[in-house]
Amino acid sequence: MEETEFSRAARLAHLRGEGLAKGDPVPLPLTMASIYHLPGDPVGFRQYGRTDNPTIEALENALGFLEGAEAIAFPSGMGAISAALFALSRAGDRVLLPSDGYYTTRLVADRFLKAFGVAVDMRPTVSFADGGFAGYRMIYVETPSNPMLDVCDLAAVARDAHAAGALVVADNTTMTPYGQRPLDLGADIVVAADTKAPNGHSDVLFGHVSTRDAKTAEAIRAWRKLAGGIPGPFEAWLVHRGLETLEVRFDRMCASAGMLAQRIAAHPAVSSVRYPGLPGDPSHNLARTQMSRFGFLIGLTLESEGAAERFIGGCPLIQPATSFGGVHTSAERRARWGDAVAPGFVRLSIGCEPAEDLWKAIEASLDALAD
Ligand SMILES: *Cc1c(COP(=O)(O)O)cnc(C)c1O
Repeated sequence: MEETEFSRAARLAHLRGEGLAKGDPVPLPLTMASIYHLPGDPVGFRQYGRTDNPTIEALENALGFLEGAEAIAFPSGMGAISAALFALSRAGDRVLLPSDGYYTTRLVADRFLKAFGVAVDMRPTVSFADGGFAGYRMIYVETPSNPMLDVCDLAAVARDAHAAGALVVADNTTMTPYGQRPLDLGADIVVAADTKAPNGHSDVLFGHVSTRDAKTAEAIRAWRKLAGGIPGPFEAWLVHRGLETLEVRFDRMCASAGMLAQRIAAHPAVSSVRYPGLPGDPSHNLARTQMSRFGFLIGLTLESEGAAERFIGGCPLIQPATSFGGVHTSAERRARWGDAVAPGFVRLSIGCEPAEDLWKAIEASLDALAD
């Protein structure tokens, strides 16, 4: 599509329309196919479902348009993250991961990457650049980190990592391309779980890798083709449908979270709140410079495990569930998974319900903790 004065969100809705012939369906058709009509010379045609599918291609086109990069789809966020880790590192390389990021990323590196002779080090997100990046092949960041919402300076990390000859991978799951653009800030690769806000309806696992470097994209595609981690067309179709409303959902979720974080922080039952949009939050100053929204995740600490469970269980507009980014507000006590957080720490994912209803329900559930 040509450059115009319109935003990506506006143009996304018309991406597919540009390529249509008269009589074509306007919405994206779902093509369930493992084989294609392929007589004679196969070069230049769709060949087989592990490499080619028009529904997946349309979704990659839309994701790539949002990222301003080439996007490669995977059946889960971890499928995308594993592709970046395994396709781009070799025995003898050193990889640096956040010690406070998504738990499974650390686990896959620790259990499997190490076994192939890749050294894996970890640092907290808040002091990620301390110690420099000399000797690393890959610097992997997650900002804001999940679940504590600490941030690191993406542009500074990218600059220093590149000076040290390392590749920079950023997990942008919590922000989506509408809230933060790591590739514009210098990262080489974005990985993301579209399971979360991009799909948005909590009915699909999905992920993608995006990059502006053709060689990197080719390596990731080859990994997917050979290892076989290709998503199903139906899941791709659902994510494509979800993406069409991501901007409006994300806008509502972030706006509600900003309002609710302030009110939750002022409630006497709450010991502390983490939200990058709160002026007093340790992440705030940096978040303002590199994020265009402050996100829809709020971390709140209540006095005990029991108080946190009663808060979640007593609120009719909160789904007790792991994961985040759905249309329904959800929450969980992260210590139940062993995260290094207080027993009463709750990760709250704000959904699309009307914000004042959410506050009414949250306030009542917090008030009840004093009884
Ligand atoms: C959920 C999540 C993932 C993994 O995504 P799956 O689709 O569950 O594999 C990776 N990173 C972050 C930050 C996540 O929140």
